[in-house]
Amino acid sequence: MHLQSLFVLAATLPLAWTHQHHGGIGRRSEQAPMSQPGLSINGIPYSTRAYWMRKANQALFDVLGDACPFAAFGTVIVNHTVDGLGDLVCIGANTNKVTGNPTLHGEMAAIQNCSEIFTDPSGPYNMTAAEALDAFSQLSLYTNAESCPMCASAIQWSGFAEYIYGTSIDTLIEKGWGQIRIGSMEVFRQSFDMGTTTRLIGEVLTNETDPYFLWQYDPSYSCPEGCSRSGSTCSNTPTTA
Ligand SMILES: [Zn+2]
Repeated sequence: MHLQSLFVLAATLPLAWTHQHHGGIGRRSEQAPMSQPGLSINGIPYSTRAYWMRKANQALFDVLGDACPFAAFGTVIVNHTVDGLGDLVCIGANTNKVTGNPTLHGEMAAIQNCSEIFTDPSGPYNMTAAEALDAFSQLSLYTNAESCPMCASAIQWSGFAEYIYGTSIDTLIEKGWGQIRIGSMEVFRQSFDMGTTTRLIGEVLTNETDPYFLWQYDPSYSCPEGCSRSGSTCSNTPTTA
């Protein structure tokens, strides 16, 4: 077994934390925020994490042309092995309704897009399939909401260096979303045979990601920035010249 000490810590500490703070509100998914403003995890400052989390929100508009789609799940995949902010490799958004493919959550769509970009013979990388598979271990996946178990498993199969999420599954559930109630921490905990060492950094910039998910089932909640409410839906606010 190659359990990292980080994961041992991560797997045990939040239990006490959740019991102490959430013991009376049903069963939380046994995980706690792993990032706070001011922390610099893997040498990357929080301001850089926030920059890319905003890009994950922006991926909604970039992919769908809609700043406030109902399924507002956006992802960016970033190479932090270069200096500075890092390089954007690819983006994705939940495209179930565009493609008819129920598995194309934002994370799955982004992974697929990265693979296509990596192996495109006329693209910037021109990798073999084997090289593309290896490349994911150097990359960081940012998603504006915690991955469902399918996507968290895909993150494990990809072997990402880092996985950073915004809004938690617990928040989604509390705000009316139907979810498979297995948190990413649990998926990671059960992935010890995989030999991967993805660092999980949770609940980054939730003050900016939460608004994308809190309006859908709450008629009194304001729409995300750039959108306005018409009945039960939020739509892009027309820009006036
Ligand atoms: Zn998913």
